[in-house]
Amino acid sequence: MTTQKHYTGLIERYRDRLPVSATTRIISLNEGRTPLIQLQNIPRMIGKDVEIYVKFEGLNPTGSFKDRGMTMAVTKAVEDGSEAIICASTGNTSAAAAAYAARAGIKAFVLIPEGKIALGKLAQTLMYNATIIQINGNFDKGMALVKEVANHAPVTIVNSINPFRIEGQKTAAFEIVDELGFAPDYHCLPVGNAGNITAYWKGYNEYATDRVCGNRPVMCGYQAAGAAPFVAGMMIDNPETVATAIRIGHPQSWDFAWAAQKESGGWFDKFSDEQILAAQKMLSQYEGVFCEPASAASLAGALQDIISGKIPEGSKIVCTLTGNGIKDPEIAMQQCADAKPVTIDASLDAVKRAILDCL
Ligand SMILES: *Cc1c(COP(=O)(O)O)cnc(C)c1O
Repeated sequence: MTTQKHYTGLIERYRDRLPVSATTRIISLNEGRTPLIQLQNIPRMIGKDVEIYVKFEGLNPTGSFKDRGMTMAVTKAVEDGSEAIICASTGNTSAAAAAYAARAGIKAFVLIPEGKIALGKLAQTLMYNATIIQINGNFDKGMALVKEVANHAPVTIVNSINPFRIEGQKTAAFEIVDELGFAPDYHCLPVGNAGNITAYWKGYNEYATDRVCGNRPVMCGYQAAGAAPFVAGMMIDNPETVATAIRIGHPQSWDFAWAAQKESGGWFDKFSDEQILAAQKMLSQYEGVFCEPASAASLAGALQDIISGKIPEGSKIVCTLTGNGIKDPEIAMQQCADAKPVTIDASLDAVKRAILDCL
């Protein structure tokens, strides 16, 4: 006889730390419980004695951490009687909103910047049958429009300004502590709209306050150089980066993210698109973990700060890999443009030669 209960998602697992009641209808796709993978080859390659773990959020149901917030936001929207949700998105929020709306049987409207979202994210959102509204403006413009239109139409905003999104997303910090038995010394993550750094810091604080863990991590937020308002210390107007998920100049969780940085003794830094893409490829090639470009900013940052000694040897570090690399096949193909597949005769001899040539 088995005593293990079928896993039914993060609200069920952490229901006593989330705003649901016994009668709440939970909208879930069994998100959460993502693997925490310890890197084996990269620490050796950089010659540093550190434990680096990656929290692979790309293995959530729609392929990004946005599912954590969306299960909670859509559950509460439905509980409050809402029949439609809306969001502005750089891609992953729209995919998650569309999927959870489909699950709940309500409508989803998503505003996306035309031509600036990864192909996989667009395909998913279409398949989940959301109404896609493309705007000839960036995420920040879309966000402003969503906030306005919600005053004029019966739609619930499910961007991370919706506090239930943060509630759902904080469970990633719980999972890390539950698995390791402690909080890491450093938590590194990409920062765009800054909801996620806000959520992790909230989760770690709740666990530390309740003595589930004795420590809290230093929070390190990494941005793309062309979209780095936290590094600039001010909002910026025309963010640009190949890492479209963090192509944001006016982060909505501005004050919360600064609080996380200050209270944890952490920092923000920025990386060029080349550095971010190099980290994405490194992680794929040397560890077998394929994340999307934005996610790799966390590893680019961690590696730089480990190599410089800012993160000292002996540290335990968690990097959040926010989304799955498969979402952005165009970038992946560009990354591997030199690795042309060979075409040969369909004969044993030719295949044998192709193999022996490479060994
Ligand atoms: C949304 C997203 C981010 C940025 O998270 P914020 O909470 O907006 O800071 C980073 N990476 C990926 C893949 C995302 O989808």
